[in-house]
Amino acid sequence: MVSPRPAVQALPAYRPGRNPADLAREIGVDRAIKLASNEVAFPPLPAVVDAIAAAAGETNRYPDNGAVVLTDALAERYGVDPAQVATGCGAVMLCQQLAQAYTEPGASIAFAWRSFEMYPLLAQVAGARSIQVPLVPGREGGPADTHDLDGLLAAIDDDTRLVFVCNPNNPTGTAVRRAGLEKFLDAVPVTTLVVLDEAYREFVSDPDVPDGTELMRGRPNVAVLRTFSKAWGLAGLRVGYLLAEDPAVAEAVRKTHVPFSVSMLAQAAAVAALASEDEVRARCASVVAERKRLVAALRARGFDVSDSQANFVWLPVGEQAAPLAAALEARAVITRPFAGVGVRVTVGAPEENDAFLAALDAVRADGG
Ligand SMILES: *Cc1c(COP(=O)(O)O)cnc(C)c1O
Repeated sequence: MVSPRPAVQALPAYRPGRNPADLAREIGVDRAIKLASNEVAFPPLPAVVDAIAAAAGETNRYPDNGAVVLTDALAERYGVDPAQVATGCGAVMLCQQLAQAYTEPGASIAFAWRSFEMYPLLAQVAGARSIQVPLVPGREGGPADTHDLDGLLAAIDDDTRLVFVCNPNNPTGTAVRRAGLEKFLDAVPVTTLVVLDEAYREFVSDPDVPDGTELMRGRPNVAVLRTFSKAWGLAGLRVGYLLAEDPAVAEAVRKTHVPFSVSMLAQAAAVAALASEDEVRARCASVVAERKRLVAALRARGFDVSDSQANFVWLPVGEQAAPLAAALEARAVITRPFAGVGVRVTVGAPEENDAFLAALDAVRADGG
């Protein structure tokens, strides 16, 4: 009998997420809403759909493996050299490439916990040890929802090749501020690569939350991850990118790229989306306005919600997380529970957020 590596055997099997159409059928309603995966509610912009349609007619050919047009557009947008850019099949693939490129058995990857659920999995696949540093309260008396940068620094050892700092943090939505992050970056050993995962950067409204693409300047062991999946509305096409101060970091990521994994459609769509940045920004501003409304509505209902800088809110309900999400689902609203900790709810369209609040009120009226 063949058997995979023990580290792979130990990985959890994939469990598909709840699909709104199936849920609606199951509970006998017209429509269920999904606020579970932090997508934006807007469809792709018309110019983006046109670019995808135009590229569709050429898909008998392979895509450009170097994604040259997209790489050049990103380099121009961020004022870096194309050699400092790597594109990937979603930012998650770039995370995996970073682990492949920078760790080996015996090495470790450090990150906060809870944070993005991919980090421990990709460490396991790479055969690296995970160093998980618990979140701490972001404000006195509040829930543990914020990076402990001093703790993270102290946890880095001689074997730590990679540190992920998810800012804003998924799933809690909190962000670290400029002074704390600069102090941290200046203290990390130069032999440890710090990856600032800024998947939600476009939703940041606090000017004191630093932009990683500025912080990386002059720091060769810092790189930034961004994605077209969230603010840019292209989750279904799979395209993300890495910007690194040291071109050698981007090169190591490009070397571990699965050939042709950024499709022709994804490249065309991302280039068109970048050209429509003003419209994307306007959409983000409307998400931020809805986030503000949702946070206020939840606080008025007694939830201890922190200031989210992302396109989701976090309900730190502890042991109630799984039962609350199940009760919301029975009322046609799919959220993302983290058992024993909390529930993450994506900021949707205004009517979706209203439906979520109504479902929440109904659950609580029922004593749920
Ligand atoms: C969604 C997300 C990503 C990227 O997702 P892709 O769709 O693979 O680009 C990366 N990091 C975090 C923290 C995320 O939440």
